[in-house]
Amino acid sequence: MLEHLATQVLELYVQADAAVSRFSAASGLSCPSGCCSCCLSEKVEATTLEMLPLAFHLFRTRQAELVLKRLEKQQGSNRCILFRPERSDADGGACSQYPCRALVCRLFGFAGSNDRNGRPRLAYCRIMKQQAPALSSQLLDNAAVEHLPLFHDFGMAITTLHPHLGTSRRPINLAIREALLKVGLIIELDPPAAKPASTDLPPEKPLGRPSQPRQAA
Ligand code: SF4
Ligand code: SF4
Repeated sequence: MLEHLATQVLELYVQADAAVSRFSAASGLSCPSGCCSCCLSEKVEATTLEMLPLAFHLFRTRQAELVLKRLEKQQGSNRCILFRPERSDADGGACSQYPCRALVCRLFGFAGSNDRNGRPRLAYCRIMKQQAPALSSQLLDNAAVEHLPLFHDFGMAITTLHPHLGTSRRPINLAIREALLKVGLIIELDPPAAKPASTDLPPEKPLGRPSQPRQAA
């Protein structure tokens, strides 16, 4: 059941990436090259459900134990455990598991919510706004608004997949840990047969967002 859920989450991620691509093309918005500010935030949150594809991938690639150990060591910091800083630049870095990143990592900067009049409003990323101040409010008057992905829609889609695992948002490291423990238990109880897994996403084939944060090499 968990594996099937992980596959459904990945299918939703494909839709989210496609929605972001459409909005990016219609609006002209994109992240500055190399920006990873959202990954540096300690406020990134996810549900356990969103991290199931990552957990299956980490077990299949024998990285799960290492990540669990790093999570234990990093207790006290909420910065995402998957972020790999650049040695030469304290503010630079990349996502080490880009194809399995959480929903908010896909939507941030390219999604919004309805205002009190039911009109979609982009939730601007601070960095993008600094880069393109001219885009500000006029953006929503043009055709791009029709393509604006809504956080609510994708959040509801996650919750609908599994109301228990897909509702409670928590700091992303806790969500990753929870997903790893759940998948680890399933694998222990029912070791998988040696066959290609539908939830396994090779890191060299990211789902493709027209924006950053970057994926690690
Ligand atoms: S959404 Fe893009 S521009 Fe905004 S902080 Fe993240 S990577 Fe930077
Ligand atoms: S993009 Fe990757 S490193 Fe950045 S917050 Fe999301 S999962 Fe973590």
